[in-house]
Amino acid sequence: MTILSSNPATEVELARFDPHTAADVDAALDAAVAAQRRWRFRAITERVALLRAVARVLREGRSRYAQLITSEMGKPITEAEAEIEKCAATCEHYAEHAPEYLADRPVRTETGEAAVLHDPLGVVLAVMPWNYPFWQFFRFAAPALAAGNGAILKHANNVPQCALAIEEVLQQAGILEGLCRTLLVEVPAVAELIADDRIAAVTLTGSTEAGAIVAGQAGSALKKQVLELGGSDPFLVLADADIPTAATTAAKARFINVGQSCVNAKRFLVEEAVADEFVTAFADAVAALKVGDPADRRTAIGPMARANLRGALHNQVQRSVEAGATLLTGGEPLQGSGFFYPPTILDHVAPGMAAFDEETFGPLAAITRVTDAEEAVTLANRTEFGLGAAVWSSDLDRARRIAREIDAGAVFINGMVASEARLPFGGIKKSGYGRELGADGIREFVNVKTLRTG
Ligand code: NDP
Repeated sequence: MTILSSNPATEVELARFDPHTAADVDAALDAAVAAQRRWRFRAITERVALLRAVARVLREGRSRYAQLITSEMGKPITEAEAEIEKCAATCEHYAEHAPEYLADRPVRTETGEAAVLHDPLGVVLAVMPWNYPFWQFFRFAAPALAAGNGAILKHANNVPQCALAIEEVLQQAGILEGLCRTLLVEVPAVAELIADDRIAAVTLTGSTEAGAIVAGQAGSALKKQVLELGGSDPFLVLADADIPTAATTAAKARFINVGQSCVNAKRFLVEEAVADEFVTAFADAVAALKVGDPADRRTAIGPMARANLRGALHNQVQRSVEAGATLLTGGEPLQGSGFFYPPTILDHVAPGMAAFDEETFGPLAAITRVTDAEEAVTLANRTEFGLGAAVWSSDLDRARRIAREIDAGAVFINGMVASEARLPFGGIKKSGYGRELGADGIREFVNVKTLRTG
């Protein structure tokens, strides 16, 4: 078995790696446990100093790391650079705020003093996806390391160079030897890692299918888990919305990262009264997206990350059209090398069609026309997912009321859903459970310990 790195824009092989052996894995786990036992007792000031150093190393190497992301998974280079910057900024956020998030919380009881402490759990296994190869890891690792945990990274096997570069970033930042290791292993090794006593908890970002399997394994081992899975985010455009701004934001919300993000807006629920105006403005904004070489700074749409992902998306487009959706633009894989798929818009999408019922992980926008806001909310919630949602209306009170009716981990009014370090991020239903980021995120991998005196 070999782990291959290849360029999805050219299909050219970049590198190949032998997976780590069972002995390598064993040594990495021993080292991580030993390092974490020391790390947990380091002062919080020392732990967050590591995060500041990580931010510095990321920024110094931004260009190289961004090029690595672009060459391995096809993200347009300007977005890859932004990803590295976001990782650095998040490390700085936790460097600044972890001491307050983790501070002992005194509680006065009837008979004496008590406090709530936040101890680390141990070494956390992180199973991560390719779509934001640096961000997905640092979003988990910045708070986890600040809280005193160690980490073992099993990254997606189409981004092995990014996985190794992450380890290099941490080493250059001066991390305690062994505290965080990348293991290049295949999927079957994950079950063994989860069952291993040296792993204390698990976090997975990826598909609902992989999440369910890992959740089962972690559940039988009684290990804490955080799951950040798929989404089919609705983007509600009400009749009183600022349509030109909604349409240009919608194009970004759908097509950023070539549509391969869990919080891309995927289903556009538009009130009939403004639907034609919205669709025209949206299609214009989408037509302006330049498709091509992701290393070119003008490119907005690079290749999809893998051939099978493009095949699955095309199949969803075909099934939706057969079921009655109207293809407005795109809809056929681009000829030539690379896994390119053009920005595609389907109009008149309805429940029962693949583009409505399933997560679509690529450059495909599904438009559903609704009679009123009530129907928009009903359809927004008619999904097995519950990650993010956007509501567009010029009446903010009404938009806030509607936001409360939507079953999702986040609702953005007159904006596009995006994660940021200060705010908790995660989903409900089949989008997973647990939270990342913010104060809630850092408390996922801690032992909330009661200390009672007297
Ligand atoms: P996967 O869920 O298969 O992969 C994500 C990570 O999980 C990878 O590290 C993968 O390893 C690992 N993994 C896969 N299967 C298992 C398993 N049985 N046990 C343990 N770990 C496992 O996603 P894909 O890359 O195949 O993408 C498929 C779909 O998943 C997308 O179309 C999209 O719908 C969704 N997805 C969602 C993401 C999100 O941000 N929420 C990110 C990526 C995908 P390996 O690479 O070795 O298979």
